[in-house]
Amino acid sequence: MSQPVRIVIVGGGIAGLLLATRLGNQLGRSGQANITLIDSSPTHIWKPMLHTIAAGTRDVQQQQVIYLAHAREHGFTYQPGEMTGLDRERREVQLAAITSPQGDTILDPRTVGYDVLVLSLGSRANDFGTPGVRQHCHFIDSQRQAEAFNVALRTRVFRSVAKDEPLRVAVVGAGATGVELSAELSRLLEVASGYGDPRVRERLSLTLLESGPRVLASFPEQVSASSRQQLEHIGFHVLTSTRVTSAEAGGFRHGDGALVDADLMVWAAGVKAPDFMSQFDGLDINRSNQVVVNAKLQSSADDHIFALGDCSSLSLPDHDRPLAPTAQVATQQAEHLARHLPGWLAGTPMPDFVFRDFGSLVSLSDYNAFGTLGRFGFFQGGFIRGRFAQLSHAMLYRRHQQALHGFRKATLLWTAEQINGLVQPKIRLT
Ligand SMILES: Cc1cc2nc3c(=O)[nH]c(=O)nc-3n(C[C@H](O)[C@H](O)[C@H](O)COP(=O)(O)OP(=O)(O)OC[C@H]3O[C@@H](n4cnc5c(N)ncnc54)[C@H](O)[C@@H]3O)c2cc1C
Repeated sequence: MSQPVRIVIVGGGIAGLLLATRLGNQLGRSGQANITLIDSSPTHIWKPMLHTIAAGTRDVQQQQVIYLAHAREHGFTYQPGEMTGLDRERREVQLAAITSPQGDTILDPRTVGYDVLVLSLGSRANDFGTPGVRQHCHFIDSQRQAEAFNVALRTRVFRSVAKDEPLRVAVVGAGATGVELSAELSRLLEVASGYGDPRVRERLSLTLLESGPRVLASFPEQVSASSRQQLEHIGFHVLTSTRVTSAEAGGFRHGDGALVDADLMVWAAGVKAPDFMSQFDGLDINRSNQVVVNAKLQSSADDHIFALGDCSSLSLPDHDRPLAPTAQVATQQAEHLARHLPGWLAGTPMPDFVFRDFGSLVSLSDYNAFGTLGRFGFFQGGFIRGRFAQLSHAMLYRRHQQALHGFRKATLLWTAEQINGLVQPKIRLT
């Protein structure tokens, strides 16, 4: 009897976990395939909410999905591990050793064999080798980093209150991460002002630095202009066309050597896939370490390797640029593969991926949200703002929860969150 096909998915983010869940339900439970999800973290989090974890305006415990438990419910296997390399000839994924927080080796480096490999490793900010950034800046690319930032932030807020000092924050990169994080920090300190010292928010001075001519460069002009106006309205300094040349202990240097003073520094500029991907032997990898895929989401060099979401680069005939690294693209690519991979395994050709642009949205905490509605759905191409835009932004996450857990459990999770919101403080205080 032939063995079930081994499908290995590396990276359990928006694309990877959705795909593992769907394939597990469809093929894993019935034993038609062995589906393994590998991730370096034990928990999944909807990445577009990381800035709220960083600011402490959302409870991470309530939002995370524990891979081990989710895998058990949905017919796939979870393996903890950090991918470090790929042996295409032997069809093996290489994983780093797992060590305890004390540095003891728990598991030696190992390999996991596959018949079909799906890479969904996401992306991170790109410091472009700017001196001092790694030493002095926080990154908000993972749950661990967001939580580390939150610890540093709370220490700084405490110090600012205790010593009546200003709290100076500088964020480099005015993409969705930088813009949404900045707004969330203001909101956090407004709420914190209600816990004793009404001047907490007043002490915040925040500078957002962007090398391009406008904030939210990948969004339509109207979204970009409205977001900038909103950020300036809440008192932030927005410096566009400003290239940061170095980071140092007291702030960022830019242009001709001017210094933006900062006690807390965040680097949220640029996008690249994990560095080890640049070493993938024989695959077409671009300068951002992304796997270049064809319209079937396959590497052109190896049709047993698929790549989805931020770690891939896909140019479609009717688009002048590769698809942007967004949650929407990651979700649609995972849905496409979940729908067609079972057929492809049985010998049916894989159809081309078609991207349906439902628009782009950015949420500036409770202050406002802006977006356009894309070429599909209701109100095609329209500009939206305010409550409707905020609700549309929140719906993206609710749809993701529903895709992972089903309608009933997703509704229960939402209800639990609402109840917790009534009985718990609105911000993280300890
Ligand atoms: C703060 C913030 C706000 C954002 N806001 C928006 C927004 O409003 N709208 C929008 O569309 N997009 C937004 N984005 C971008 C969006 O989150 C990404 O486009 C999306 O998460 C990409 O999904 P993905 O599945 O490709 O990767 P991810 O969701 O990033 O998942 C990658 C997974 O791979 C795992 N992984 C990484 N390296 C390894 C390794 N070596 N070995 C094993 N596992 C590994 C990670 O742990 C992670 O689970 C935002 C991003 C951030 C950080």
